[in-house]
Amino acid sequence: MLPEVGRRRFLIGAAAATTVVLVGCGSPSDDGPGRSGSPTAPRKAVDPVDAPAAGADGDVFTLGVASGDPTTTSVILWTRLASDPTADDGAGGLGDDDIAIAWDLAADADFSRVLASELISAKAAHGHSVHVDAQGLEAGTDYWYRFRYGDQTSTVGRTATLPDGSPDAFGLAVVNCQMYEGGAYGAYRNLVDEDVDLVVHLGDYIYEYPGGEGAGRHSLPNRMLTTVGDYRLRYASYKLDPDLQAAHARFPFVATWDDHEVANNYMGDTVPGDATPEQVEERKAAAYQAWWENMPARLDPPDGPDLAVYRDFTMGDLATLYLLDERQDSAEPPCRDTSTAGLDYGNCDDVDGEDRTRLGADQEAWLADALGGSATRWNLLGNPVVLAGIDAGQDESAFYLDTWDGFPDARKRLIAQLADVDNPVVLTGDYHAGMVLDVHEVPFDQDTPVVAPEFMAPPISSALFDADVTGRTPQLRQQINEYGYLVVAVTPDELTATFRVVDDVADPDTAISTAAVWTVAAGDPIAQQT
Ligand code: FE
Ligand code: CA
Repeated sequence: MLPEVGRRRFLIGAAAATTVVLVGCGSPSDDGPGRSGSPTAPRKAVDPVDAPAAGADGDVFTLGVASGDPTTTSVILWTRLASDPTADDGAGGLGDDDIAIAWDLAADADFSRVLASELISAKAAHGHSVHVDAQGLEAGTDYWYRFRYGDQTSTVGRTATLPDGSPDAFGLAVVNCQMYEGGAYGAYRNLVDEDVDLVVHLGDYIYEYPGGEGAGRHSLPNRMLTTVGDYRLRYASYKLDPDLQAAHARFPFVATWDDHEVANNYMGDTVPGDATPEQVEERKAAAYQAWWENMPARLDPPDGPDLAVYRDFTMGDLATLYLLDERQDSAEPPCRDTSTAGLDYGNCDDVDGEDRTRLGADQEAWLADALGGSATRWNLLGNPVVLAGIDAGQDESAFYLDTWDGFPDARKRLIAQLADVDNPVVLTGDYHAGMVLDVHEVPFDQDTPVVAPEFMAPPISSALFDADVTGRTPQLRQQINEYGYLVVAVTPDELTATFRVVDDVADPDTAISTAAVWTVAAGDPIAQQT
């Protein structure tokens, strides 16, 4: 197996190629030696194909462009056509016909050296999205891409393949929880200026609630999302935001999901309240379809309520990122009280009562295998919900039981696996706060060794968690109640986690600053604040 492609991803990649580009190998590079150290085979320039004649009225490139799931030799290029993106049925004003467009990939921002150019069909059954698998690329290299239709040309996106060999450095931005109504996307406006290679989205890309009305920002539709049309419209509504579009156009993304891509605190085929498992599965199918249509992910289109999104990304021998799904196949959390509006907050004897699965059997086996086979210096876990444990109670213990705190046996197994790999680091979202935690062998037991540091990215815009939970959570090293994102810079010797926070979440033009910087030395899981 190729080191940069996890087993599961290899299988998916083999089946998922929407289109394959074979571009010729040309003369030796004039860019100097490839960073990979492998024989350098620069792409030969090609002439762009003619754009298909425009049949649809109006600008179809309203939702921007994106790229994602890079390997050392390929990357997924995405767009979704919509001439009327706010149409209430979520169909984007384009009806039932498939629409042919052209895509181009170039070695430069001006497209003076086009390396690949092809036609592709944006299928109505896929919400008029396209997922181009641009292949035959060089490792650790920047590329530019665009889409064309009639005389319309999309925004130009910039992307990059993953490095191979022994990279000196790799940079990630970690983002999550971007409720449209919660604030502007000033965090994304600032993110485009960061020196990172990849953006990791840990979920809550959308929220499923009615968008509301009146003053302030409101997404569409103004109803609880249940149908594929509803979810499509919600993604379109978010993706009209220019700062979100700019971030996607600037960096490749790798995304997993948390609960709100479907429904608050859904776990497996359960939600708080009285929905039947059949109803939950139906809603999952609609939500997963729209998620896939709107993400630049290297995955086959879903067919029903199952879509395996866990996958890994390897940056040469420097780092592997394991991206997890902690909702789809999860057991129902303990002591669920359906009268508490789905908070899954509290404590009960049941917490330790049974071995509840968090990842599901398939994903758990995959992760054990992937971690067991890791040959990289750092092992980064893209883990949507907090692992180290947080006791948010005041007078007595109380936990958010849809986090790993409700799944103690599964957590024990995961922590034991992390203890067996080199330099595990946990990257987390969901809590609507920035945090630094120590993942102990036994959470809350400070006498057990620290296995990994955990860095929780602050929310982009979702309302902050406003309680101070440092009192009952000794493994919590720092709590930062601010909006923003996390920048993680990895070198062979050190990992640096920088908390970037905005001044004013309501202002898209907000300034940004650094709230805290923590470093982790290779070989020592205890993070140090600098
Ligand atoms: Fe959230
Ligand atoms: Ca969440």
